[in-house]
Amino acid sequence: MIPITAVDVRDAEALVIEVLRSGVLAQGPMVARLEEGFARLTGTAHAVAVNSGTAALSAALEVLDLQPGDEVVTSPFTFVATLNAILERGATVRFADVTREDFALDPDAVATVLGPRTKVLMPVHLYGQTADMGKLVPLAEEHGLALVEDAAQALGASFLGKPAGSFGLGCFSLYATKNVTTGEGGVITCDDAEVADRLRVLRNQGMRDRYRYEVAGHNYRMSELHAAVGIPQLARFDELVAARRRNARQLTTGLTGTPGLAVPQVLPGRAHMWHQYTVLIGPHAMLSREELAAELADRGIATGIYYPKLVFDHDCFRGHPLIPAVSPSDFPVAKKLSEQAISLPVHPALSESDVDTIVREVREALGA
Ligand SMILES: *Cc1c(COP(=O)(O)O)cnc(C)c1O
Repeated sequence: MIPITAVDVRDAEALVIEVLRSGVLAQGPMVARLEEGFARLTGTAHAVAVNSGTAALSAALEVLDLQPGDEVVTSPFTFVATLNAILERGATVRFADVTREDFALDPDAVATVLGPRTKVLMPVHLYGQTADMGKLVPLAEEHGLALVEDAAQALGASFLGKPAGSFGLGCFSLYATKNVTTGEGGVITCDDAEVADRLRVLRNQGMRDRYRYEVAGHNYRMSELHAAVGIPQLARFDELVAARRRNARQLTTGLTGTPGLAVPQVLPGRAHMWHQYTVLIGPHAMLSREELAAELADRGIATGIYYPKLVFDHDCFRGHPLIPAVSPSDFPVAKKLSEQAISLPVHPALSESDVDTIVREVREALGA
Protein backbone atom coordinates (compact mmCIF):
# COMPACT_ATOMS: atom_id res chain seq x y z
CA MET A 1 0.00 0.00 0.00
CA ILE A 2 1.29 3.48 -0.86
CA PRO A 3 0.35 5.55 2.22
CA ILE A 4 -1.02 9.10 2.10
CA THR A 5 1.62 10.28 4.58
CA ALA A 6 4.88 8.78 5.73
CA VAL A 7 6.52 9.95 8.93
CA ASP A 8 10.30 9.68 8.87
CA VAL A 9 11.98 11.16 11.93
CA ARG A 10 14.86 8.70 12.23
CA ASP A 11 17.26 11.61 11.79
CA ALA A 12 16.24 12.85 15.26
CA GLU A 13 17.66 9.90 17.18
CA ALA A 14 20.88 11.59 18.25
CA LEU A 15 19.19 14.78 19.47
CA VAL A 16 16.47 12.89 21.32
CA ILE A 17 19.13 10.83 23.09
CA GLU A 18 20.96 14.06 23.91
CA VAL A 19 17.80 15.30 25.62
CA LEU A 20 17.32 12.03 27.50
CA ARG A 21 20.89 12.17 28.77
CA SER A 22 20.65 15.84 29.71
CA GLY A 23 17.67 15.27 31.99
CA VAL A 24 16.21 18.60 30.85
CA LEU A 25 12.81 17.53 29.52
CA ALA A 26 10.58 20.59 29.83
CA GLN A 27 10.98 23.68 27.64
CA GLY A 28 14.66 24.53 27.31
CA PRO A 29 17.50 24.89 24.79
CA MET A 30 16.08 22.48 22.16
CA VAL A 31 12.84 24.46 22.06
CA ALA A 32 14.91 27.62 21.57
CA ARG A 33 16.75 25.95 18.67
CA LEU A 34 13.47 24.92 17.06
CA GLU A 35 12.22 28.49 17.41
CA GLU A 36 15.36 29.86 15.74
CA GLY A 37 14.78 27.48 12.83
CA PHE A 38 11.21 28.68 12.42
CA ALA A 39 12.15 32.34 12.54
CA ARG A 40 14.79 31.66 9.89
CA LEU A 41 12.45 29.70 7.57
CA THR A 42 9.65 32.25 7.84
CA GLY A 43 11.89 35.32 7.76
CA THR A 44 10.34 36.62 10.98
CA ALA A 45 12.00 38.24 13.97
CA HIS A 46 10.35 35.96 16.54
CA ALA A 47 9.04 32.42 16.80
CA VAL A 48 7.29 31.10 19.90
CA ALA A 49 6.86 27.33 20.21
CA VAL A 50 3.74 25.90 21.84
CA ASN A 51 2.34 22.40 22.17
CA SER A 52 -0.09 22.32 19.25
CA GLY A 53 -1.17 24.23 16.18
CA THR A 54 -4.52 24.80 17.86
CA ALA A 55 -2.76 26.37 20.86
CA ALA A 56 -0.82 28.57 18.40
CA LEU A 57 -4.07 29.83 16.84
CA SER A 58 -5.73 30.32 20.21
CA ALA A 59 -2.74 32.17 21.70
CA ALA A 60 -2.43 34.37 18.59
CA LEU A 61 -6.07 35.39 18.98
CA GLU A 62 -5.63 35.89 22.71
CA VAL A 63 -2.93 38.54 22.35
CA LEU A 64 -5.32 40.52 20.15
CA ASP A 65 -7.56 41.11 23.20
CA LEU A 66 -10.83 40.29 21.46
CA GLN A 67 -14.03 41.31 23.24
CA PRO A 68 -17.32 39.41 23.21
CA GLY A 69 -19.08 40.22 19.94
CA ASP A 70 -15.83 40.81 18.04
CA GLU A 71 -15.72 38.88 14.81
CA VAL A 72 -13.08 36.74 13.13
CA VAL A 73 -13.47 36.09 9.40
CA THR A 74 -12.17 32.75 8.17
CA SER A 75 -12.64 29.94 5.67
CA PRO A 76 -15.37 27.31 5.95
CA PHE A 77 -13.12 24.86 4.06
CA THR A 78 -10.61 23.97 6.76
CA PHE A 79 -9.74 21.64 9.60
CA VAL A 80 -11.88 22.03 12.69
CA ALA A 81 -8.97 23.46 14.74
CA THR A 82 -9.36 26.80 12.93
CA LEU A 83 -12.93 27.04 14.17
CA ASN A 84 -12.28 25.58 17.63
CA ALA A 85 -9.54 28.13 18.33
CA ILE A 86 -11.88 31.04 17.51
CA LEU A 87 -14.68 29.58 19.65
CA GLU A 88 -12.25 28.98 22.51
CA ARG A 89 -11.50 32.71 22.55
CA GLY A 90 -15.20 33.57 22.63
CA ALA A 91 -15.14 35.47 19.35
CA THR A 92 -17.93 35.33 16.78
CA VAL A 93 -17.10 33.43 13.60
CA ARG A 94 -17.88 34.82 10.15
CA PHE A 95 -17.18 32.64 7.15
CA ALA A 96 -16.42 33.76 3.61
CA ASP A 97 -16.26 31.58 0.51
CA VAL A 98 -13.01 30.37 -1.04
CA THR A 99 -11.72 30.27 -4.61
CA ARG A 100 -11.59 27.15 -6.73
CA GLU A 101 -8.03 27.97 -7.75
CA ASP A 102 -6.33 28.06 -4.33
CA PHE A 103 -8.96 26.53 -1.99
CA ALA A 104 -8.46 29.57 0.28
CA LEU A 105 -10.38 32.74 1.19
CA ASP A 106 -11.74 34.70 -1.76
CA PRO A 107 -10.91 38.39 -1.12
CA ASP A 108 -14.13 39.51 -2.86
CA ALA A 109 -16.21 37.23 -0.65
CA VAL A 110 -14.33 38.47 2.43
CA ALA A 111 -15.14 42.08 1.53
CA THR A 112 -18.87 41.30 1.67
CA VAL A 113 -18.82 39.93 5.24
CA LEU A 114 -16.72 42.64 6.89
CA GLY A 115 -18.66 44.69 9.42
CA PRO A 116 -18.10 47.12 12.29
CA ARG A 117 -17.29 44.24 14.70
CA THR A 118 -14.81 42.47 12.43
CA LYS A 119 -11.42 42.53 14.17
CA VAL A 120 -9.44 39.67 12.67
CA LEU A 121 -8.92 38.20 9.23
CA MET A 122 -7.80 34.58 9.47
CA PRO A 123 -6.90 33.07 6.10
CA VAL A 124 -6.09 29.37 5.97
CA HIS A 125 -3.23 28.53 3.61
CA LEU A 126 -4.65 25.19 2.56
CA TYR A 127 -2.65 22.22 1.25
CA GLY A 128 0.66 24.12 1.17
CA GLN A 129 -0.13 27.20 -0.93
CA THR A 130 -0.86 30.64 0.54
CA ALA A 131 -4.16 32.42 0.18
CA ASP A 132 -4.26 35.51 -2.07
CA MET A 133 -2.21 37.69 0.27
CA GLY A 134 -1.80 40.33 -2.45
CA LYS A 135 -5.46 41.21 -1.93
CA LEU A 136 -6.09 40.04 1.63
CA VAL A 137 -3.31 42.10 3.23
CA PRO A 138 -4.50 45.44 1.78
CA LEU A 139 -8.09 44.51 2.70
CA ALA A 140 -7.04 43.90 6.30
CA GLU A 141 -5.08 47.17 6.38
CA GLU A 142 -7.93 49.16 4.89
CA HIS A 143 -10.34 47.89 7.56
CA GLY A 144 -7.90 47.93 10.47
CA LEU A 145 -8.03 44.16 10.92
CA ALA A 146 -5.39 42.03 12.57
CA LEU A 147 -4.12 39.22 10.38
CA VAL A 148 -3.77 35.74 11.87
CA GLU A 149 -2.56 33.17 9.35
CA ASP A 150 -3.55 29.56 9.80
CA ALA A 151 -0.32 28.36 8.23
CA ALA A 152 -0.58 24.89 9.80
CA GLN A 153 -0.17 23.31 6.36
CA ALA A 154 2.07 25.92 4.78
CA LEU A 155 5.54 26.04 6.31
CA GLY A 156 7.82 27.09 3.45
CA ALA A 157 5.07 28.45 1.19
CA SER A 158 5.34 32.04 0.01
CA PHE A 159 3.52 34.79 -1.84
CA LEU A 160 5.70 36.97 -4.09
CA GLY A 161 8.68 35.71 -2.13
CA LYS A 162 7.23 36.61 1.26
CA PRO A 163 6.89 33.50 3.46
CA ALA A 164 3.63 32.21 4.92
CA GLY A 165 3.57 33.23 8.57
CA SER A 166 5.30 36.57 7.95
CA PHE A 167 2.23 38.60 6.98
CA GLY A 168 0.67 38.74 10.43
CA LEU A 169 0.68 36.35 13.34
CA GLY A 170 1.75 33.09 11.69
CA CYS A 171 0.39 29.89 13.23
CA PHE A 172 2.03 26.58 12.41
CA SER A 173 1.30 22.99 13.41
CA LEU A 174 3.88 20.29 14.03
CA TYR A 175 1.31 17.51 14.29
CA ALA A 176 2.37 14.03 13.13
CA THR A 177 1.14 14.40 9.55
CA LYS A 178 2.43 17.93 8.88
CA ASN A 179 5.40 18.56 6.60
CA VAL A 180 7.62 19.18 9.61
CA THR A 181 6.54 17.27 12.68
CA THR A 182 7.35 16.87 16.35
CA GLY A 183 4.41 14.50 16.95
CA GLU A 184 2.41 17.28 18.54
CA GLY A 185 3.43 20.92 18.53
CA GLY A 186 2.88 24.39 17.18
CA VAL A 187 4.68 27.68 16.57
CA ILE A 188 3.61 31.31 16.34
CA THR A 189 5.76 33.64 14.25
CA CYS A 190 5.71 37.43 14.29
CA ASP A 191 7.90 40.51 13.91
CA ASP A 192 6.68 42.43 16.96
CA ALA A 193 8.89 41.92 20.02
CA GLU A 194 6.18 42.97 22.45
CA VAL A 195 3.67 40.51 20.99
CA ALA A 196 6.27 37.72 21.09
CA ASP A 197 6.97 38.57 24.72
CA ARG A 198 3.27 38.39 25.61
CA LEU A 199 2.99 35.05 23.83
CA ARG A 200 5.93 33.68 25.82
CA VAL A 201 4.32 34.78 29.07
CA LEU A 202 0.90 33.40 28.05
CA ARG A 203 2.25 29.95 27.17
CA ASN A 204 3.94 29.69 30.58
CA GLN A 205 0.95 30.16 32.92
CA GLY A 206 1.14 33.93 32.57
CA MET A 207 4.39 33.77 34.50
CA ARG A 208 7.46 35.85 33.68
CA ASP A 209 9.54 35.15 36.75
CA ARG A 210 8.78 32.18 38.94
CA TYR A 211 5.51 32.67 40.84
CA ARG A 212 5.05 36.21 39.58
CA TYR A 213 1.97 36.16 37.36
CA GLU A 214 1.16 38.88 34.86
CA VAL A 215 -1.96 37.44 33.27
CA ALA A 216 -4.15 34.36 33.55
CA GLY A 217 -2.17 32.09 31.24
CA HIS A 218 -1.93 28.53 29.98
CA ASN A 219 0.43 25.64 29.87
CA TYR A 220 1.18 25.71 26.16
CA ARG A 221 4.85 24.81 26.60
CA MET A 222 6.57 22.42 24.21
CA SER A 223 8.82 19.72 25.69
CA GLU A 224 12.50 19.31 24.81
CA LEU A 225 11.81 15.82 23.47
CA HIS A 226 9.30 17.16 20.98
CA ALA A 227 11.57 20.00 19.87
CA ALA A 228 14.45 17.57 19.34
CA VAL A 229 12.32 15.56 16.91
CA GLY A 230 11.69 18.63 14.74
CA ILE A 231 15.12 20.28 14.58
CA PRO A 232 16.75 17.94 12.02
CA GLN A 233 13.75 18.29 9.69
CA LEU A 234 14.25 22.05 9.70
CA ALA A 235 17.92 21.52 8.83
CA ARG A 236 16.99 19.45 5.75
CA PHE A 237 13.83 21.38 4.98
CA ASP A 238 14.90 22.38 1.45
CA GLU A 239 15.50 18.76 0.56
CA LEU A 240 12.07 17.71 1.94
CA VAL A 241 10.30 20.44 -0.04
CA ALA A 242 12.27 19.65 -3.20
CA ALA A 243 11.13 16.01 -2.99
CA ARG A 244 7.48 17.07 -2.61
CA ARG A 245 7.81 19.48 -5.54
CA ARG A 246 9.38 16.79 -7.71
CA ASN A 247 6.55 14.39 -6.89
CA ALA A 248 3.89 17.06 -7.51
CA ARG A 249 5.42 17.91 -10.89
CA GLN A 250 5.47 14.26 -11.89
CA LEU A 251 1.84 13.82 -10.78
CA THR A 252 0.71 16.90 -12.70
CA THR A 253 2.55 15.87 -15.85
CA GLY A 254 1.04 12.40 -15.67
CA LEU A 255 -2.50 13.32 -14.64
CA THR A 256 -3.14 16.38 -16.82
CA GLY A 257 -5.88 15.57 -19.31
CA THR A 258 -7.39 12.69 -17.32
CA PRO A 259 -11.12 12.84 -18.07
CA GLY A 260 -13.16 14.30 -15.21
CA LEU A 261 -10.09 15.17 -13.12
CA ALA A 262 -8.63 18.65 -12.51
CA VAL A 263 -5.03 18.87 -11.31
CA PRO A 264 -4.12 21.44 -8.61
CA GLN A 265 -2.82 24.82 -9.74
CA VAL A 266 0.27 26.65 -8.63
CA LEU A 267 -0.80 30.26 -8.97
CA PRO A 268 1.57 32.94 -10.31
CA GLY A 269 3.84 34.38 -7.63
CA ARG A 270 3.16 31.59 -5.15
CA ALA A 271 5.60 28.93 -3.99
CA HIS A 272 3.65 25.77 -3.20
CA MET A 273 5.17 23.26 -0.81
CA TRP A 274 2.61 20.51 -1.33
CA HIS A 275 1.37 19.51 2.07
CA GLN A 276 -1.32 17.81 0.01
CA TYR A 277 -1.65 17.13 -3.70
CA THR A 278 -5.37 17.61 -4.16
CA VAL A 279 -7.27 16.93 -7.37
CA LEU A 280 -10.93 17.63 -8.13
CA ILE A 281 -13.19 14.89 -9.43
CA GLY A 282 -15.90 16.54 -11.50
CA PRO A 283 -19.48 15.37 -12.09
CA HIS A 284 -18.58 13.89 -15.49
CA ALA A 285 -15.77 11.66 -14.24
CA MET A 286 -16.24 7.92 -14.76
CA LEU A 287 -16.23 7.37 -11.00
CA SER A 288 -17.51 9.50 -8.15
CA ARG A 289 -14.89 10.74 -5.72
CA GLU A 290 -15.89 8.09 -3.19
CA GLU A 291 -15.78 5.33 -5.82
CA LEU A 292 -12.35 6.51 -6.92
CA ALA A 293 -11.08 6.43 -3.32
CA ALA A 294 -12.36 2.85 -2.92
CA GLU A 295 -10.98 1.79 -6.31
CA LEU A 296 -7.54 3.24 -5.53
CA ALA A 297 -7.53 1.56 -2.12
CA ASP A 298 -8.16 -1.75 -3.93
CA ARG A 299 -5.23 -0.92 -6.18
CA GLY A 300 -2.95 -0.26 -3.20
CA ILE A 301 -3.03 3.54 -3.10
CA ALA A 302 -4.26 5.45 -0.07
CA THR A 303 -6.03 8.76 -0.56
CA GLY A 304 -7.35 11.44 1.78
CA ILE A 305 -10.47 13.57 1.69
CA TYR A 306 -9.76 16.96 3.24
CA TYR A 307 -12.48 17.94 4.05
CA PRO A 308 -15.72 16.09 3.27
CA LYS A 309 -17.95 18.78 4.82
CA LEU A 310 -17.71 22.48 5.52
CA VAL A 311 -16.26 22.99 8.95
CA PHE A 312 -19.45 24.32 10.59
CA ASP A 313 -21.71 21.67 9.00
CA HIS A 314 -21.80 19.30 11.99
CA ASP A 315 -24.51 18.89 14.61
CA CYS A 316 -22.27 20.11 17.44
CA PHE A 317 -22.00 23.54 15.77
CA ARG A 318 -25.64 24.00 14.76
CA GLY A 319 -27.20 26.89 16.64
CA HIS A 320 -23.88 27.68 18.34
CA PRO A 321 -24.18 31.19 19.82
CA LEU A 322 -20.82 32.23 18.31
CA ILE A 323 -21.66 30.96 14.81
CA PRO A 324 -24.39 33.15 13.28
CA ALA A 325 -26.72 31.04 11.12
CA VAL A 326 -24.90 29.65 8.09
CA SER A 327 -25.70 27.04 5.49
CA PRO A 328 -23.34 25.22 3.10
CA SER A 329 -25.26 26.78 0.21
CA ASP A 330 -23.98 30.21 1.34
CA PHE A 331 -20.53 29.03 0.19
CA PRO A 332 -21.08 27.44 -3.22
CA VAL A 333 -17.40 27.17 -4.14
CA ALA A 334 -16.32 25.67 -0.82
CA LYS A 335 -19.30 23.31 -0.91
CA LYS A 336 -18.36 22.04 -4.36
CA LEU A 337 -14.72 21.60 -3.32
CA SER A 338 -15.80 19.62 -0.26
CA GLU A 339 -17.64 17.29 -2.65
CA GLN A 340 -14.89 17.01 -5.27
CA ALA A 341 -11.50 17.24 -3.53
CA ILE A 342 -9.38 14.16 -3.03
CA SER A 343 -5.69 14.11 -2.09
CA LEU A 344 -3.14 11.72 -3.55
CA PRO A 345 0.18 10.76 -1.92
CA VAL A 346 2.93 13.37 -2.57
CA HIS A 347 5.19 12.89 0.47
CA PRO A 348 9.00 12.76 0.22
CA ALA A 349 9.21 9.01 0.84
CA LEU A 350 7.68 8.24 -2.57
CA SER A 351 10.01 6.93 -5.27
CA GLU A 352 9.71 7.95 -8.91
CA SER A 353 8.18 4.56 -9.64
CA ASP A 354 5.64 4.99 -6.78
CA VAL A 355 4.49 8.21 -8.43
CA ASP A 356 4.33 6.43 -11.81
CA THR A 357 2.14 3.79 -10.18
CA ILE A 358 -0.18 6.44 -8.71
CA VAL A 359 -0.52 8.15 -12.10
CA ARG A 360 -1.15 4.89 -13.92
CA GLU A 361 -3.76 3.61 -11.46
CA VAL A 362 -5.64 6.92 -11.26
CA ARG A 363 -5.76 7.21 -15.06
CA GLU A 364 -6.87 3.62 -15.47
CA ALA A 365 -9.54 3.95 -12.78
CA LEU A 366 -10.96 7.01 -14.55
CA GLY A 367 -10.93 5.33 -17.97
CA ALA A 368 -8.08 7.35 -19.48
C1 LIG B 1 -3.27 20.65 11.59
C2 LIG B 1 -4.08 21.88 11.46
C3 LIG B 1 -4.37 22.70 12.56
C4 LIG B 1 -4.15 22.33 14.00
O1 LIG B 1 -2.97 21.85 14.37
P1 LIG B 1 -2.80 20.86 15.62
O2 LIG B 1 -1.33 20.85 15.78
O3 LIG B 1 -3.37 19.53 15.20
O4 LIG B 1 -3.50 21.43 16.78
C5 LIG B 1 -5.02 23.91 12.33
N1 LIG B 1 -5.39 24.27 11.10
C6 LIG B 1 -5.17 23.50 10.02
C7 LIG B 1 -5.62 23.99 8.68
C8 LIG B 1 -4.52 22.27 10.16
O5 LIG B 1 -4.31 21.52 9.10
